[in-house]
Amino acid sequence: MSDMTAPCNTSGEQAVTDLALDLHWTWNHATDRLWRQLAPDIWDHTRNAWAVLLNTPRSRLRALLATPDFRDMLDQLVRAHAESREKPAWFTQACTMAPPPTIAYFSMEYMLDEALPIYSGGLGNVAGDQLKAASDLGVPVVAVGLLYAQGYFRQGFSATGQQEALYPINDPAQLPITPVCDGNGDRLRVPFRIATGQIWLRAWRARVGRTVLYLLDTNDPDNPPAIRCITTQLYGGDDTLRLRQEMVLGIGGWRLLRVLGLRPDVCHLNEGHAAFAALERACGLMEDLGIPFVHALTIARAGTVFTTHTAVPAGFDRFAPELVRRHLDFYACHDLRTDIAEILALGQGEGAAPDAPFNMAWLALRVSGAVNAVSRLHEQVSRALFNPQFPRWPQGEVPVSHVTNGVHVPTWDSAAADALWTSATGKDRWLGTLEEVEHGVRAIPDHDLWHSRMQARAALVGFMVGQHSARACFMGGRHECGMPPPAFGPDVLTIGFARRFATYKRPDLLLHDPDRLARILTRADRPAQLVIAGKAHPRDMAGQALITRWMEFIRRPDVQGHATFLVDYDMSIARRLVEGVDLWINTPLRPWEACGTSGMKVLVNGGLNVSEPDGWWAEAGAPDVGWVIGDGMDHGEGPSRDAHDADSLYTLLEHEIVPLFYQRDGEGVPRDWVAIMRESMARLTPRFSANRAVRHYTHGFYLPAAAAYRARLADGGAKAADIGRWRQAMAAGWADIRFGTLQVTRVADRWRIHVDLHLGSITPDMVRVQLYADVPAGSPIVVPMTAGAGGRDGSVSYDAEVDASRPATDYTPRVTGFHPDVSIPLEASFIAWQK
Ligand SMILES: *Cc1c(COP(=O)(O)O)cnc(C)c1O
Repeated sequence: MSDMTAPCNTSGEQAVTDLALDLHWTWNHATDRLWRQLAPDIWDHTRNAWAVLLNTPRSRLRALLATPDFRDMLDQLVRAHAESREKPAWFTQACTMAPPPTIAYFSMEYMLDEALPIYSGGLGNVAGDQLKAASDLGVPVVAVGLLYAQGYFRQGFSATGQQEALYPINDPAQLPITPVCDGNGDRLRVPFRIATGQIWLRAWRARVGRTVLYLLDTNDPDNPPAIRCITTQLYGGDDTLRLRQEMVLGIGGWRLLRVLGLRPDVCHLNEGHAAFAALERACGLMEDLGIPFVHALTIARAGTVFTTHTAVPAGFDRFAPELVRRHLDFYACHDLRTDIAEILALGQGEGAAPDAPFNMAWLALRVSGAVNAVSRLHEQVSRALFNPQFPRWPQGEVPVSHVTNGVHVPTWDSAAADALWTSATGKDRWLGTLEEVEHGVRAIPDHDLWHSRMQARAALVGFMVGQHSARACFMGGRHECGMPPPAFGPDVLTIGFARRFATYKRPDLLLHDPDRLARILTRADRPAQLVIAGKAHPRDMAGQALITRWMEFIRRPDVQGHATFLVDYDMSIARRLVEGVDLWINTPLRPWEACGTSGMKVLVNGGLNVSEPDGWWAEAGAPDVGWVIGDGMDHGEGPSRDAHDADSLYTLLEHEIVPLFYQRDGEGVPRDWVAIMRESMARLTPRFSANRAVRHYTHGFYLPAAAAYRARLADGGAKAADIGRWRQAMAAGWADIRFGTLQVTRVADRWRIHVDLHLGSITPDMVRVQLYADVPAGSPIVVPMTAGAGGRDGSVSYDAEVDASRPATDYTPRVTGFHPDVSIPLEASFIAWQK
């Protein structure tokens, strides 16, 4: 704790400081009354406990601490806080491994709270929400990221309505983080040797309930200016800067964990950005066990999990090989004691030309023991993207599974929704396995659901009025300042659309026919109001032009009071929106949205979704929980597809959604609308929660990865050495493998299929031989073939029987590598087919 930021160390002041420095306050509202009492204006304005504390005069804090009421409240909060950290959690029962494993989580961005602005959007949202859920569930995660001096750009607008990129400074003293110190209380600096000398990484700690997030930055006064700038901006700069950031995150991040004495069993790569962490992890194992790089990497990868988040090749970070050579040559020689060519091969991929780009996703594939996509549909898309890395393997066997993302529900629920859910399903509802939650929500009466909806919408509408007036005043010149506030109505159907303005998200789909949209919004008997938000990357001119189109629409005289744009879409704007809207619109070009999370945030608050059947909505969308745009058929890409989808969306709004909202009974309650709300809340909220996702990761990935890693680590890495010998023998003999001719005989209603296989120097226990047959729109048939007698010419005969209901020619014998401890084909993609 630096003296600048900490109140002096009396126990009461320290207790308040500790509470403010634990980001637990961002989702647990027990301490809200404390912050409001300290500085009501700052708290209501910023919702930032740390800002409240920094701006509360010491004298005021001391005076309050001297009053028994305040002191009692504080003591009570401190006790509850300690209990929330220490009481046994879900993980204690879920994990039988002793000692329990530690999971290191790496991500370029974390969206935890607007008080710590080191995020851009969806990826950071997933990381932040999973970290909070890990805290709730007691999963021992330690997270690693970067501290950006300017974060991601903030959005402003010029007087003419052009987006402007603003970069306010993230002064570390004003962020809810503390510098990491060594055992002597001195600031920890992580050394990093590069070809031109020594540089230093600084480390910070953010507490997130039971979990800790470590952040690195390069802004050490002792570093050269070019190095100090590495961590200035998130997703700014060129390839060189990005590569350097990823080196700091991956290599620096893992090194920091080692310096802190941590030896995580599992390393979870949230996107390929941090894949260098596996190299540094191998480096540590080389040192610990005295083994060469290849064996160390074989051990490390068993404990590495890679989550891919993109649905398009352009979403992968790719670097010129020359750039990688320049930056990693020294590290490869000096730290990994290997040739840079070997590192390049890991990222250039299968059969690559020497000048092929170095792809961080290919690197991540080659340093991981398990790979997952982020929705069911995205699993299919990812298999197609990764298939070239598994040549001659059928797409269906590309080793990618999926864990659909979820959101941290306590972060995104409104106070009204929180109260409603607490009465229906209890206070600890997000700390366990959620089985009771669905049941409890189904029992909430229509009236209560609708009442909480009305309250939440009114709060958003109040906010919209204030923001709209402020912006009109600022952008429209003085004459607009005196205008009456726009007439947004607290009872009017409120529709939200907030997105990164990336073209594939089609933020202009609703504007396909602006007059039709205006008619939908302004019907006298059934009005609607639209609230838009979103940022376009400063270099994305097309995205900025789309924002301008919205600005033009909002200025139309006929839609005044029916549409507004909220500036600077960030977590606080997102929170207001998802709490208040009745309907959330999502219009990506299928299948480009890997998952999408914003629509999940409205679930708990009783908002409904109308969305393309892409990402998570391809799993969730159904008539009893919301609306699906389009007919589920593919209509190509381009203008006709857009026209088709836009028409579908308008038609849904005109004929189903808006009328349903206004179809009231004698008591003014839209019973059919509320029925959809209830079903959406009960069925979808638990399913698309980070709680569910983190439990899935724990059982399906973390615990198996930890066990595999420990097995490979045992006996000085004996298994890894064995795998290395197997791999060498396979590589040496593989090219000589030949299939002989196939013999097929019919025995009653079975085919008996026989084939000879010339294995050369490879022995039968090193391979598996199978019959393979495709099944249209289903999983393929794979039947093991049994080895029989060895022939005189060094060949081995293989036999299998299959049902004769399909032609024998459908079945093709194939041979793949086999080793009991190796994941096939992820770790070894040897495969040959009988022609
Ligand atoms: C939730 C959220 C996102 C991600 O939303 P998508 O639906 O995945 O596009 C982006 N930005 C902010 C500020 C968010 O709160």
